[in-house]
Amino acid sequence: MTDSLRKPLIAGNWKMFHGGLSGLELAAECAKIAARSRDVEIVIAPPFTVLAAAASEIEETGLEIAGQNLAPGKSGAFTGEICGDMLREAGCTWVIVGHSERRTLFGETDDIVHKKIDAAFAAGLRPIACVGETLSEREAGKTLEVVERQVMAFLSRLGHALEDGISAAIAYEPIWAIGTGKVAGPHEAEEVHAAVRNWHASISPALAAQTRILYGGSVKADNAAALLACPNVDGALVGGASLDAASFGAIASAAEALAQRSTDRPS
Ligand code: PEP
Repeated sequence: MTDSLRKPLIAGNWKMFHGGLSGLELAAECAKIAARSRDVEIVIAPPFTVLAAAASEIEETGLEIAGQNLAPGKSGAFTGEICGDMLREAGCTWVIVGHSERRTLFGETDDIVHKKIDAAFAAGLRPIACVGETLSEREAGKTLEVVERQVMAFLSRLGHALEDGISAAIAYEPIWAIGTGKVAGPHEAEEVHAAVRNWHASISPALAAQTRILYGGSVKADNAAALLACPNVDGALVGGASLDAASFGAIASAAEALAQRSTDRPS
């Protein structure tokens, strides 16, 4: 987190928790976190059932809202699906795409993920595109190969959206670290993040310098500062620890302290 072109981004993925009144209460707490995080962008991704109410609860507080998923198409006879325009209407500005739980538990293929990225851009939503390797891929030494394939497929879809001024974030989430309590060490995370930045720069150096690359996978209050201090880690996608305002707030505060330190650093 050393480049002032990239405002750190801390995003909370609530998954299938806090879909009612407790979600509104948590959103109100997160709005307070956003209000005190001047140098950090704070995003929450509540369940669909609470999106619109949460959005009106936190209006003008600086807190932003993301969908956790979207349909690959526009409106139509797709029972149970939610499209990008609906997320926009509910107050979302971001959407998580390609989360490993969607890929492994709900059968989302790369092809579906790519259609969802296109659908997000078409609706004017900024995607947080998730990439990451499984434990067996890591153990086989294939981490960079797998992540490169996922990132390049994502980057190939950015062109027209960027002409329209829509930005995106990439979340590197090693699958073996999600919800397991096993976290990638700062060196492991930085190695992949630096590679992602280089692949991005091979397509557009200017854009690569601006795109936030988030780390996700068991980020907690006690490991956030070390991860966020890595030069190419521009924020975090937080699952479990985002369900509690105190832990999420502590992660946001760690990001804020680092951001202020890099702003104060003489150039
Ligand atoms: C996630 O679901 O994106 C995630 C990173 O979860 P956790 O922080 O619980 O590992």
